[in-house]
Amino acid sequence: MRECARCHAKTDDHVVVCPHCGADLKVDSVTARALKAIMKNPRAQAVYVVARAGACPVCRRAQGTYYKDSGSIPRLPIEGCSCPDGCTCRYEPLLTEVGP
Ligand SMILES: [Zn+2]
Ligand SMILES: [Zn+2]
Repeated sequence: MRECARCHAKTDDHVVVCPHCGADLKVDSVTARALKAIMKNPRAQAVYVVARAGACPVCRRAQGTYYKDSGSIPRLPIEGCSCPDGCTCRYEPLLTEVGP
């Protein structure tokens, strides 16, 4: 499942252009923007891919921590995902602790 960051229309994983507003979902999906924000955040040293409970094996295998410079951060939706309602994985930043 992809969610458009502009109009919040939800589409299937294979859709790359929002049928509602024409946004390029490779850039303007909620997950793509979340990843971009994490990459730009100097306090985030890594990206954590979170698969929801009950996600398909492909998503569960993708779950984990990926360092920004590892070059192996998976794109969402996960390729080969077989979740019944599409990939619902999301990105979360792994923030560096900042002392007082
Ligand atoms: Zn849209
Ligand atoms: Zn899946």
